[in-house]
Amino acid sequence: MGIRVSNLIKSFDKTTIVHGISFDVADGEFVTLLGPSGCGKTTTLRCIAGLERTNGGIIEIDGQVVSQPEKDIFAPPHERNLGMVFQSYAIWPHMSVAENIAFPLVARGTHGDEAKQAVIWALDIVGLTRMGDRQPSELSGGQQQRVALARAIVGKPKVLLFDEPLSNLDARLRDRTRAEISRIQKELAIPAVYVTHDQAEALSMSDRVIVMDAGHIIEEGEPRKLYRKPNKHFTAEFIGAANFLTVTYKNQHWYAPDGSALTLEESVTGTEGEERIAVLRSEHLDIQHLDGTASTAHVNALRGTIEHVQYMGPHIEYAISVGGVPMNVTHQMDFGSGTQILVTFGPADIHLLPRAS
Ligand code: ATP
Repeated sequence: MGIRVSNLIKSFDKTTIVHGISFDVADGEFVTLLGPSGCGKTTTLRCIAGLERTNGGIIEIDGQVVSQPEKDIFAPPHERNLGMVFQSYAIWPHMSVAENIAFPLVARGTHGDEAKQAVIWALDIVGLTRMGDRQPSELSGGQQQRVALARAIVGKPKVLLFDEPLSNLDARLRDRTRAEISRIQKELAIPAVYVTHDQAEALSMSDRVIVMDAGHIIEEGEPRKLYRKPNKHFTAEFIGAANFLTVTYKNQHWYAPDGSALTLEESVTGTEGEERIAVLRSEHLDIQHLDGTASTAHVNALRGTIEHVQYMGPHIEYAISVGGVPMNVTHQMDFGSGTQILVTFGPADIHLLPRAS
């Protein structure tokens, strides 16, 4: 049955932080709240967890209303049957790994063999089978976060909630733990809400991403759709590196600022003289020398000059001027600053947004 958030409002003192947002998370679905710092992601998650009282709207978990201030309904966290993993692992240093994991079971009165079996099961799921007797100080950061994950799932929760759980891990461990969390969530087939401002985490782990800004939902969608065909300027700018070109509709064609006609995969017609914003991802663009060797077969080609080169190792980042319009292109080949070039791209690599999106 999942989670249903309807018109959620949350204020602190007189300041409204979450402005009546609504979304569902289906059973087994992994949904990420993604947005800049301070946009209200954590507050939304804490409302779902029952760690904050809401000011309006309804929250349902597994078909049960757990929060509805208008009817004075508020279920405290321990009645919501959820597992939470935070940025800080919040592991008790004086308890063994097994004792830490058993903690929520003991708190709800489950002891003995039942608790023991549940801890063995949770340790196995997170890949810490023989580490139950260790002290937390004997574990790496990644292993401690796995203990926190085992503790979150040991009580067989109906919902998993994650608040930036990977922020304290180094880059390599973050990648590995990211994959682990995805695997475990799919294995348990329970709904998960994951909060992050890290677009790579959101795109790689989620079935669906909800993009938030200033307490509002900007848009939501599957990662590929949001990345390639966003509906909003904010999404295109926040997720990935994008170029924005103003294009104009004339004689049934869209024209780039340098006057070249563009070929698009999507059929978008406009009114004569209408302007739209074209989104071009930096890594979808190709660069060729403008020295006679450039192929003229490209459907979309803009003349430009390389203004700045940043060598990054696996790729090179170029700042390019296309008729005075700045563009960023990521490429593997070496070009010197000042080189006259053609920026080329396929019809599928250009996506049009309404001018005021
Ligand atoms: P981050 O990625 O930095 O954690 P976030 O999107 O999760 O950001 P929130 O933690 O939800 O943002 O905070 C949203 C806003 O609510 C911020 O302006 C924050 O200062 C404010 N806020 C959060 N908790 C409280 C509180 N207990 N009292 C007053 N203001 C709060």
